[in-house]
Amino acid sequence: MNFENNLAFAKAMDEADELRGFRTQFLFPNQNGKQFIYLCGNSLGLQPKVAHEVLKRQLDNWENHAVEGWFEGETPWMFYHKELKKLMAPIVGASPAEVCPMNTLTVNLHLLMVSFYQPKGNRFKIIMEGGAFPSDQYAIESQVKFHGYKPEEAIIEVFPRAGEETLRTEDIQAQIRLHGDELALVLFGGINYYTGQWFDMEAITKVGHEVGAIVGFDLAHAAGNVPVKLHDWNIDFACWCSYKYQNSGPGGISGIFVHEKHFTNTALNRFAGWWGYQENQRFKMEKGFVPEVGADGWQVSCTQVMPMALYHASLQIFEKAGFIQPLRNKSITLTNYLQFIINEVNIELGEEQYKIITPKDSKDRGAQLSIIAREKGKEIFDGLVDNHILGDWREPDVIRLSPIPLYNSYEDIFLTGKALLNVSTTILGTK
Ligand SMILES: *Cc1c(COP(=O)(O)O)cnc(C)c1O
Repeated sequence: MNFENNLAFAKAMDEADELRGFRTQFLFPNQNGKQFIYLCGNSLGLQPKVAHEVLKRQLDNWENHAVEGWFEGETPWMFYHKELKKLMAPIVGASPAEVCPMNTLTVNLHLLMVSFYQPKGNRFKIIMEGGAFPSDQYAIESQVKFHGYKPEEAIIEVFPRAGEETLRTEDIQAQIRLHGDELALVLFGGINYYTGQWFDMEAITKVGHEVGAIVGFDLAHAAGNVPVKLHDWNIDFACWCSYKYQNSGPGGISGIFVHEKHFTNTALNRFAGWWGYQENQRFKMEKGFVPEVGADGWQVSCTQVMPMALYHASLQIFEKAGFIQPLRNKSITLTNYLQFIINEVNIELGEEQYKIITPKDSKDRGAQLSIIAREKGKEIFDGLVDNHILGDWREPDVIRLSPIPLYNSYEDIFLTGKALLNVSTTILGTK
């Protein structure tokens, strides 16, 4: 597509966008009466306008039914998660039985590692991407220690080649093969939070399985952003948070995926709780844990109704938008447009002040572009915020901007470019 750096072009793109109406379903932050251009949905998605109403409805259920609400009312809480499972499945390419909403992300990462990291003999190592989100690093480090290993011996991190910002699939595969019979677990992010690189999840899974390892993914930055096919790609397990690309609110509920092939595997350890017990026998309160079949068997505590109500409402918006593919189509064009606009700013400035470290090809990324400013990155980021443009800053030197197809427009991108140019010339001076 031939992009143009002018307002008329951006407005024409918005006019032709079939998803443009969804923007009106979200609330935008504003300051001094001026609304922000929000490019931070990779960190915390915007609030859907229905959020108040759905929470109020559950408060009303609680008020009117109290404990009877578990089995009565319009959404009996006992079975409420099933409504979410139906809508979560198409987001991550799974069957409803393979997914379940529960807890928060890092907690689920631990619970799933309890099951899927079972080191034995020589096979005790975990391979992961270098520069993974800190919480994942800490979770893996502590799991390894829990099993009595030293992190420096049991954790292998794969880093980009010297002079490169992102990982090559062939290098990831080579490292997996190299450590083959020592690997208990391959655990990668779907999309790296810092670089925005979308890993070739299917290729990684294939090689992981070839060497006899279990393969799992943290989809914090992938779920609701890019089309993943967890079942078809034969991924063993995955988890994600719903408050980034899925707009379920701060601390929103997490989702897990367990591949159907593990449903009957009784060799898997679990940290169990009553809510993972066989559903139709749960209230017999008997001794000896018998898990419910499917992802539900990993539940520990009772349903978190309020966070689930928010996630449910957000998932219904995805459903109306046709789940992931129509959003992905727009997302590709929107992010390509942002890439074009950043390049235009560089041309105007007469040098590559802004270097995009995210892969250039849309098949290797989602919505996010990670941009390194050659000079004064933090000042420039703050300047954008002063201009009511909210992306996010990640130490040591990256500005992340993520146009979200549900609520960002081409005009947002054009205006961001204009502001970035102004802020740059103010802070850097003209050359
Ligand atoms: C956002 C994010 C988290 C956050 O974990 P919480 O348990 O929800 O706080 C963890 N891992 C990755 C990769 C993330 O991007």
